[in-house]
Amino acid sequence: MSDIIQLLPDAIANQIAAGEVVQRPASALKELMENAIDAGASQVQVLVKEAGKMLIQVIDNGKGMTMTDARMSFERHATSKIRSSADLFAIRTFGFRGEALASIAAVAQVEMKTREKGAELGTLIQIEGSEIKKQELVSCQEGTSISVKNLFFNVPARRNFLKSNPVEMKHLVDEFQRVALAYSEIGFNFIQNDMELYNLQPGKLSQRIVGLFGKNYQGQLVACKEETPHLNVRGYVGKPENSKKTRGEQFFFVNNRFIKSNYLHHAVANAYEGLMPSDMHPFYVLFLEIDPSHIDINVHPTKTEIKFDDERTVYAVIRSAVKQALGAHNVVPTLDFSLDVNFTENWKYDSGKRQEINLENTLVPDDLAKEKSYKSFQNPSFKKQSVSGWEKLFEGGTGLSEYSQKITREDEKDFLTFPSKASEELSRPSLDFGKLEESTGTTFQVELNYIIGQMSTGLLIIDQQAAHERILYERYSRQLSQASGASQQCLFPPHVQLAPGDFALVMDIKDELHSLGFVLVEFGKDTLLIQGVPADVQVTNEKALFEGLLEQYKHFKSELSLDKRENLARSLAKKSSIKRGIKLNTQEMETIVAQLFSCQNPNYGLSGNKTFVKLDIQKIQAFFNR
Ligand code: ADP
Ligand code: MG
Repeated sequence: MSDIIQLLPDAIANQIAAGEVVQRPASALKELMENAIDAGASQVQVLVKEAGKMLIQVIDNGKGMTMTDARMSFERHATSKIRSSADLFAIRTFGFRGEALASIAAVAQVEMKTREKGAELGTLIQIEGSEIKKQELVSCQEGTSISVKNLFFNVPARRNFLKSNPVEMKHLVDEFQRVALAYSEIGFNFIQNDMELYNLQPGKLSQRIVGLFGKNYQGQLVACKEETPHLNVRGYVGKPENSKKTRGEQFFFVNNRFIKSNYLHHAVANAYEGLMPSDMHPFYVLFLEIDPSHIDINVHPTKTEIKFDDERTVYAVIRSAVKQALGAHNVVPTLDFSLDVNFTENWKYDSGKRQEINLENTLVPDDLAKEKSYKSFQNPSFKKQSVSGWEKLFEGGTGLSEYSQKITREDEKDFLTFPSKASEELSRPSLDFGKLEESTGTTFQVELNYIIGQMSTGLLIIDQQAAHERILYERYSRQLSQASGASQQCLFPPHVQLAPGDFALVMDIKDELHSLGFVLVEFGKDTLLIQGVPADVQVTNEKALFEGLLEQYKHFKSELSLDKRENLARSLAKKSSIKRGIKLNTQEMETIVAQLFSCQNPNYGLSGNKTFVKLDIQKIQAFFNR
């Protein structure tokens, strides 16, 4: 029998490779844009017609090619970007496989015009289905222009397989956005059927985001920055209220290369826990910088997947960076648009220092802190008042003075201060706004739902239930992590008979319940005796409280898949918070105000709803200006 194995002709090999590299117009666009950037362009222009099916053209002002290189660039495995396998592990450029142009030229009609900087003439090459049709000297701009016409003209099956124009257009825009985000210092424009969709000036990342997604992102961006020996994170995340029900505006870049990773997405989503309903998706554009030897980007030909050698550290760093950012934005509610995370040195990774910053953040929402004149609050008589049921609700029935001693004993940093008898000693100037004064009467309630407070720059409107849920949630979370919840003994310990499944559930979270202050004793089969409940919960019916808590816990468990502690803290906060429609006296209201602004995240309730809004004097004035 004669030998039957033959090497494939190049044209066919290229066509096969094209199947991997060029799936649709958007993949060709991506390759061309990346080549332009690799060539050092500062301005990149994209033109498409018929969603790229008729034309995709990318024009750059990069370094251009000599005639020989121009010819070579269409050969398979021809690249100027790596020379040895060692280079594979230190990849900093986009391309490296040297197969993009060869693949594209195998399945389209391609025309390239390119001229090196300083060269007198440039080169024109026309190539169709891997066949060179024309090669000549031309006069053209410096840089490179490549047009890809009639993609898949010679592969009808694939051409027919392309989706409708709107769908292909969406893919093109997605690719364009990713590249444009990663290179805000490069100018881009995008023209579709002679209509300009984007015209992006070189600038900062924040400006690029606004250029791509619209002006309303301006006030919605929170800078995020974290530097560790292992990796650096920088970028922006959206405020929780800017999150959306649909995914699509989430961008991770590793060493400036767009990647997709559910695992890392989870790290970000996790940082929003408690700030946003779990079915919502936050906006983010995050750049990770990591030593290329710790990653493998070569796992997929389209290269949006990546492997890290230490995925868990990456997860932890991202989560903490985003958490920090969201905490910090309480201090800077609206991003100063002239600043940019690329260029401002906020702080370096330094846990000691960070903690301090954190403390400031948690205590002083800046515009309130500036409000030295949020004056309703200082009142020496406050401490003299008897301990009301309300204070008991807040302070575990210990009364304010004991509470304040507790604060001074405990790590003050963790335990957020509350105006009290000791407020003179404890006071920091920045806490002025948090001191209560009953007599001024500037705090009042509207519709039994909203607490209105006065600042010299306007009014503060607080949703009482959302605020109280936030306060309690943070308190219970703290108690759970410190196992510090105090108990109040039940005078007549009720017993609760549970379904076997519920009983098992309670057994599973029994330590956590104990940390919160529940004292439960097994009392025969599937039955519990409730001997104590958390001290700071005002209860008339311990059994109802416990059963309600269990129901809430089960509900969150099935809806949100929270971890035990998170779930318990939320459930109990929900169950024991004051509700809308409850009348509050001045002191109660002011306690809520003070405690809310001692929270780590005062801005949001448990489902991402706002806890308060400010009505600035300017806004008030605007109502009356004609
Ligand atoms: P890769 O980018 O993986 O090297 P390509 O097929 O995309 O492979 O490109 C092949 C080579 O052609 C590149 O290595 C580069 O030297 C050259 N090239 C491609 N596009 C451009 C461009 N816009 N400007 C300058 N050189 C380019
Ligand atoms: Mg390339």
